This record gives sequence, C-alpha cells and structure tokens, in this order.
Amino acid sequence: MKFVDVGAGCQIKRLLAELNERKQWTLPSLGFITEQSVAGSISTGTHGSGRHSLSHYVISVRVARYDANGTPVIEEITEGDELRAARCSLGCLGVILSVRMQCREAYRVEEHFQEYRKIDEVELAEERFPLQQFYLVPWRWTIFVQHRRETDAKQSVLKHAYHWYRFLVIDVAMHLLILFFVRLIRSSRLIKAVCRWVLPAFVIRGWHVVAPSRTQLVMQHQLFRHVELELFVQKRQLPSALEFLEQVLVAVSERSNEISSKLRAQLNDTDSMERIERLRGRYCHPYPICVRKILPDDTLISMATNATSRNPLGQGSHDTLPADDPWYSITLTNFQAPKSREAFDLVADMLTKCMSQLFGARPHWGKLNSLSVEELRSHYPAFDTFREICDKSDPHGAFRNAWTQRLLEAPNSHRQPNLVVHPT
Ligand SMILES: Cc1cc2nc3c(=O)[nH]c(=O)nc-3n(C[C@H](O)[C@H](O)[C@H](O)COP(=O)(O)OP(=O)(O)OC[C@H]3O[C@@H](n4cnc5c(N)ncnc54)[C@H](O)[C@@H]3O)c2cc1C
Repeated sequence: MKFVDVGAGCQIKRLLAELNERKQWTLPSLGFITEQSVAGSISTGTHGSGRHSLSHYVISVRVARYDANGTPVIEEITEGDELRAARCSLGCLGVILSVRMQCREAYRVEEHFQEYRKIDEVELAEERFPLQQFYLVPWRWTIFVQHRRETDAKQSVLKHAYHWYRFLVIDVAMHLLILFFVRLIRSSRLIKAVCRWVLPAFVIRGWHVVAPSRTQLVMQHQLFRHVELELFVQKRQLPSALEFLEQVLVAVSERSNEISSKLRAQLNDTDSMERIERLRGRYCHPYPICVRKILPDDTLISMATNATSRNPLGQGSHDTLPADDPWYSITLTNFQAPKSREAFDLVADMLTKCMSQLFGARPHWGKLNSLSVEELRSHYPAFDTFREICDKSDPHGAFRNAWTQRLLEAPNSHRQPNLVVHPT
C-alpha cells in the first residue's frame, strides 16, 4: 500500500504538491479546498464527493498527551477502535503530531456539467459518474450536476482554458454577483430572478474536460468569507430531505407562500410550526445547495460512519451496518455579513433540529452545528466507545474545551468536571 508520513500542521495543498512532484502520487479524496491542515481535516471528517472522508484513509496517528500521572507521552495509534477514534477525534485524544495517510497513483478526472429536473435521473447517473456532485438551484429548483469520473483518457488540450473559466466565471464572477445582491441589493424578488435566470447562464453544459484530480476536484471556495451548514443523511432519506428543505426555504422566503399539509405535519411533529411562522418573509436563500456522496468511513464518529455499538464478539471492533450504505451531505452556504445573518442562523438552527429528527441528519463537526450534545451523541451508535477511548487517552481532560467536555460527559453523569493537570 502506498502511504505518506506527514506532519499534522502541513496544509493539504503542500502535501499534494510534494506527493505529485516526488512520486506522482496523490490523496484518495479531496474536499472543495486544500487550505486545511492534515490534522484539522481529519479531525472533523473532511470529505469530497464519491469517496470516503479523508479520515478513512488514515493508517496511523502520532499523538502527544498526558498519561494518568500527568506525565507527557507520545503514542503511535495504529489499530482497532483507538485508530477509528483517532481518525476523527475532534482534538479529544491529544495533540496530533503526524499522520500516516494512504496515497495512490496520481489520476485524471473527466468532468462536465448537465442540468436535470428530477433527483432520480441524477441518482441514475451515479453509476457512470461515481465522483459526481450536484447543486440544487433555489427558485429554479433544477439540479446542476458536475458529472465526474476517473479516466485513463489523455488530458484535454483545453484543460487550462477550462480551469480559467471555472476560476474567473464560477469562483469569482458568480460569487461577486451573489455578494452584490445579498449584501447590497437585498431584494428577495431580485435574488430569486438571479437564481432562476442568471446563475444558470454561468454554467457551460456538456463541456467534457479531462485534467489531474488535484486540480479538477477543488475550487476556490475560500475566496469569499461565508458560513456553511452541512447536514448528512443516508441515501434512502435524500429525496425526502431535499423536498423538506425546498419547502422550508419557500415557506420562509415569503409570508404569503402556502404551507403544504405534508410540511405542516412534519413541522408539527418536530414542534417547529411556531418557529417557521416567526421566520416567514425573513430569509431568501441565494446560493446553489451542494449535495455530495460520501462512502461509509471506518471511523467511530465521522459524519459518514456506519459504525454501530460495540460488537460483543470482536475485541473492540464494530459491526458497520448497513456496511456499504453511503451518506449524502447537503450544504447551505451563506455570504451575508455577520450582522445581517440572524435570519439565516435561525433557519439553519431550525433545519438542523427538524432534519435531525425527521431524517437522522448529522451536522458536519467543522461547520455550523446547533444540535444539543444529547442529540449529537444519539446520532452515533459508537459514541460510547469513542468516549471511553477519549477518557483513557486524556484521563484528566487536558485537551477538552467547554463544548467537548459537555459532549464527552457521560449522560446523567454527576461526576465533577475533570481537573486539568499541568505537569511541570
Ligand atoms: C472555504 C472552506 C471550504 C471547506 N470545504 C470543505 C469540504 O469540501 N468538505 C468538508 O468536509 N469540509 C470542508 N470545510 C471544513 C474544513 O475542512 C474543516 O473545518 C477542517 O477542520 C478545517 O481544517 P483546519 O486545518 O482549518 O482546521 P482547524 O480549524 O485548525 O482545526 C479544526 C479542528 O481539528 C482539530 N485539530 C486541528 N489540529 C489538530 C492537532 N494538531 N491535534 C489535534 N487536533 C487538531 C481541533 O479539534 C480543531 O478544532 C471547508 C471549510 C472552509 C473554510
């Protein structure tokens, strides 16, 4: 197996460049951007589309921590549930010093955009384009799919032109336009018109381009400051989750929009009717909603894990059930200035709570996350094992902040908070 030993603070983009230059290798999966550090990306389950999260490909982790006597130790975690915990640990096992990460030969990706009306058509295309991701365009309510697949075909002659197009037109011009309407104009009517008629004009359909994965799979999403809510649902929940999301966005965008009886029932079931009534007419979503497929991770608590509770037969191993059921992440991006973002924050909070209850949706550990610690724990059947490993690895809670302390607190526990030991 190909692997690399890399320092925890190395940025993914530097790692990609070194791997490519020295070995013609790359990483098996990439997120939207490559600015993150290796430790930061694995610790929150960072993922792309069509493959596992980066955490899944971690072979071993070197961690600095304190033992029960408060003595600093450096430990190499190489197997079992300890490794599954370390692959996505929210910083709770100690300070990650370096990571051994699976690599692969550099490869090429063919990409083109198409527009669809129905989610079933998009799902059908997955077989031919396993790396695809798609965007539900609000107010037009069609789906733009970025069809992607690995290929042995030669790199396209126009690959540089295509990347300049994607950078200048999509990453810069389209985002500036959205910023202009969201921050300056702020008219729901105009935002809807832009989404329906202008944004689709930025997308060239059917231009097939082959280029190396390390450039093809990423965008320059870090250029403009924003916040994101990203919710993960299992495949069977995806159509209903998207339908619910669309109906909520329609309902909050205008006071006069009718609420269907199905949505009403869902909102009543989740005690959210009153909240949505208060939000009516206050928020018009202006940005394509990105959906990505993530294969199940061999971790304890990354968002795409299928790990269940401890398997009594195996020493510290877990059933993963249903083992190969993928997850889909749904991302809502917001470019409003922080002082004007109150309505979005309330909508995001409501969506998180409702979709958690209705569809078992898990929020990304590294993005907006308003679920209570009890709700979060309930989404991860292997959470108790994760907690036990954290308690063992960091017996005095030296690496916890107030939030992870609450998250890792045993339910109904009345124990005193752990004392932080500062060894000399
Ligand atoms: C523009 C943008 C695009 C993004 N795109 C994606 C995407 O496509 N897919 C996706 O899944 N996510 C995405 N994210 C989320 C991002 O990948 C995560 O938030 C990631 O954790 C950020 O990495 P960082 O190095 O900046 O982490 P930091 O903010 O430095 O760290 C995040 C957490 O990791 C832990 N940590 C970091 N370093 C260490 C260490 N040495 N030892 C122990 N614990 C450590 C800590 O708990 C810390 O709170 C995106 C974020 C941005 C801002």
